[in-house]
Amino acid sequence: MTAVHHPSDETLLRCAAGSLSAGPAIVVRAHTDTCQQCRRTMARFEAVGGALLKEIEPTPLNDAAFDDVLLKIDASVVRPMTTKPLGDVSMPNGNPYPRSLAHARIGKFRWLGPGFRRSNVAVAGHPRANLMLMHIGAARKMPDHGHTGVEYTLVLSGSFSDQSGRYVAGDFIELDSSVEHQPIVDPDGACLCLAALEGDMRLKGVIGRFMQWFMRA
Ligand SMILES: [Zn+2]
Repeated sequence: MTAVHHPSDETLLRCAAGSLSAGPAIVVRAHTDTCQQCRRTMARFEAVGGALLKEIEPTPLNDAAFDDVLLKIDASVVRPMTTKPLGDVSMPNGNPYPRSLAHARIGKFRWLGPGFRRSNVAVAGHPRANLMLMHIGAARKMPDHGHTGVEYTLVLSGSFSDQSGRYVAGDFIELDSSVEHQPIVDPDGACLCLAALEGDMRLKGVIGRFMQWFMRA
């Protein structure tokens, strides 16, 4: 299936330059696994970026960056994931996961609300990737939510709609903090999405607050 919705040029550029944080970068790479158009754009950005990098003076780390490095080291002890690498298993619809996720591991899917399950995704070398798989049942609504950062989502199977359109397998959605939306999965089947956040998700309503409590766990 051909994607209709793609990462912005800015996101592709940040991914190519290595300035996008790990989780969102993995979501972008998983999209480019199947999107030739974005794969070509990214390759161009990488070629230009490589040339530019040679001309840029290295800058010293400031204190905040140093603290961030320490936090990353602190968080590098990841709870072991018991499942197989995604390269060895299939999605619930029987199709393989994107190549970029072949070495990622997921934990058990946890129930987060009616028809909604979530699993953390662990990627070696990126302990703070803040990456998750979300499995939402047919015709189910995600809680109404906004973000304090940018939410990056790749539809892996199934489809959903929100106020801004309809999204099918392969589609990439990036929403900034100004957007509040309530995705509703199409009635013909469950939807599996890979999502990463830069920042936190703010869920609204009672179920939202309940789920938020779980998502912190
Ligand atoms: Zn694309």
